[in-house]
Formats: sequence, structure tokens, C-alpha cells
Amino acid sequence: MRYHKIPDETIRRLPIYLRGLLFLSEAGQQSVSSRDLADFLGANPPQIRKDFSYFGDFGTRGVGYKVDTLARQIRKILKLDVVHKAALVGVGNLGSVVLAYQGFKVYGFDIAAAFDIDSKKIGRKISNITIENVSNLRTLKKRKIDIGIITVPRDAAQETAEALVNAGAKGILNFSPCYITVPKKVKVITIDIAMDLARLPYYMPSS
Ligand code: NAD
Repeated sequence: MRYHKIPDETIRRLPIYLRGLLFLSEAGQQSVSSRDLADFLGANPPQIRKDFSYFGDFGTRGVGYKVDTLARQIRKILKLDVVHKAALVGVGNLGSVVLAYQGFKVYGFDIAAAFDIDSKKIGRKISNITIENVSNLRTLKKRKIDIGIITVPRDAAQETAEALVNAGAKGILNFSPCYITVPKKVKVITIDIAMDLARLPYYMPSS
């Protein structure tokens, strides 16, 4: 099932709701009101109710939302109800940390392969993943890997994106600080901590 009319802003908030719901579920909580969920997430209740109304009203007046049902529904909308295999390219400082992080599994992501150009790194293991020569990228489709994670230096980002797309990637998480161009059918999300940091002082009180 596709949910055609969910705005991007809501889609952006759904993983945050999911993270909160998973935490509550782990703590043994079965239901939650939009107010309590809002307090817990630092969000506002009308926004949460509006967001949830896009995919049906699962709340019961006086009882709230069933935590597990809502989490399941959000997973389905985000297509996190299946395992997604990802490949990471560029196993340097950042790539090694991303590769070792176990927190992606909760959302159904399996970083199943890692690639580098440096012969000294090829063959080494991080978190049970053997670093492969970047020329092996063409094997992605056969291995059912359709997400690419780019952690190479900026000047290698575009060529890496192209190699990933040619190998069958349909989604790319780009950590390199640059804009990359890909065919329209491929979704790119760029993450840049420096950009977030760069707007932080603006909001800080002057001393
Ligand atoms: P690094 O130099 O430690 O690692 C880069 C790795 O990429 C190396 O192992 C290198 O051998 C490999 N590499 C280079 N060219 C390649 C190619 N064509 N194919 C495959 N592998 C290749 O760098 P780092 O500190 O890990 O940073 C990596 C990237 O992440 C940089 O673009 C950096 O600007 C970016 N970065 C982003 C954030 C963020 O907030 N998004 C934070 C830190 C770093």
C-alpha cells in the first residue's frame, strides 16, 4: 500500500515518532496519549495528531495510541518493515564509525558491504564486514543491496555516486560535503553536521 498524500514534513517526523515509540515499547508501555508522546519527543500534540491522521486514526479518546500498532504502521509507511541492505563506500575515519554502529539494525538496515580504494584497507574487517576493492561495487545488484552510503572525500563523491547508481542503488545517504547529481529515480539524502553546527550560534544568546 502507498500513502500518496503524506507531506514530506510529516515523513521527516515519522522516524522521530518511531524512535520514541520503540523506546516506550521497550519500557513496557502499551499505549500513549498524543500529549505524553509530544512531551516525550519535545513535539506538539496537535502536530502529532495531524501527522497521524494522514494514515488513519489509531488513537482512542481517553486511551491514546497503541504503541506497538502505531510503530508497526509507521514502519510500513516508511517501508522499514523489510530489511534494506546497504553498502558503504570509503572506510576512513567516518566510514569506520558508521560501519561499526549497531543502531541502524533497529530500523531494518543491514550494512552488508564496505568498499575502499586503498589497498592497505582492502581485506581488513570492521564489525564482521570485510572491506572490498571498490571495483567490486558492480556486484551490488546480485547481492540485493540497493542503498549506498558515501563516506569518501568530497572530490570522489560524484564518481562514487555514479558507480553506486550503475550498480543498482536506488537510494544514497551522502556524508560528503557536496551536491551530487543522480538520475531522478534515485533518492539522495545528504547529511552534514558542519551545516547544522554552522546555524547553531545564530540561535544562541549573545554573551
Ligand atoms: P578519510 O580520509 O578518513 O576517509 C576517506 C576514505 O575514502 C579513505 O579510506 C579513502 O581511501 C577512501 N576513498 C577515497 N577515494 C575513494 C574512492 N574513489 N572510492 C572508494 N574509497 C575511496 O575521511 P573522513 O574523515 O572519514 O571523511 C570522509 C567524508 O565524510 C569526507 O567527504 C568528509 O568531508 C565527510 N564528513 C562528513 C561529515 C558530516 O557531518 N556529514 C562529518 C565528517 C566527515
